[in-house]
Amino acid sequence: MPELPEVEVTRRALAPEVIGGVVRAVVVRDRRLRWPVPAGLARRLAGQRILRLERRGKYLLWRFERGTLISHLGMSGSWRIHRTAPPRPGPHDHVDLVVDGPDGLRVLRLTDPRRFGALLWARGGEPALRRHALLSHLGIEPFDPRFTGAFLHERTRGRGSAIKQVLLAGDIVVGVGNIYASESLFDAGIDPRTAARRLSRPRCARLARAIASVLGRAIDAGGSSLRDFTGADGRSGYFMAGAQVYERNGLGCLRCRDGTIRRIVQSGRATYFCPRCQRR
Ligand SMILES: [Zn+2]
Repeated sequence: MPELPEVEVTRRALAPEVIGGVVRAVVVRDRRLRWPVPAGLARRLAGQRILRLERRGKYLLWRFERGTLISHLGMSGSWRIHRTAPPRPGPHDHVDLVVDGPDGLRVLRLTDPRRFGALLWARGGEPALRRHALLSHLGIEPFDPRFTGAFLHERTRGRGSAIKQVLLAGDIVVGVGNIYASESLFDAGIDPRTAARRLSRPRCARLARAIASVLGRAIDAGGSSLRDFTGADGRSGYFMAGAQVYERNGLGCLRCRDGTIRRIVQSGRATYFCPRCQRR
């Protein structure tokens, strides 16, 4: 499932190809994504210039003068860039955006076998976008300078659930999916079962730094393959190869060398941690 790092790498790959470009055509072959692709999308976008390509959580925001195209990769979606005529569309190639970009015509093809992704139009500017139902409840961005230990400390005071689950909820900070929750908590030396409200301010500071660092490294890992970029392809996490605890249960801890990585299940999701390095 594409996580925040994959979406950010997608954004970085698409941005130079499309920013400043004008949409020449939109081909919708199948509107049945998680929500139907709006019927008038082609008419709305044709002739409009792409001003910016932003990311909020796992949403890509294609900013136009009159509104924003919101796209989400769902469980298995990807955008591919075609610099020459694209091949004949396959059964999962639901949408093509034809953009007259800074370096010529590009076909951006949205492929989504499981169709949990989304492509929606939000009319209006910044304030309307912030109030959009899909975006308004999202937590802070992990790289936002306001995401500090003090912020995390304050926002976890009322939360009696385990910190792992609180992170996954995404309403405090976005982007901490299952892999990255285990990895960040390991990095910060925090037992994933610790009640969120019991974390001290210094430990919250360590955790906030760990989250930004783990996600930043995952983006760098994905970014290193940017030259050959063809799109996030649904593999779970660029970071997997560099994982310290994720799916390493039964193996020795890479930090303390004495501990053995354990796997537990929290709210139906696997969590991995080192009982020696990570304390409640
Ligand atoms: Zn350890």
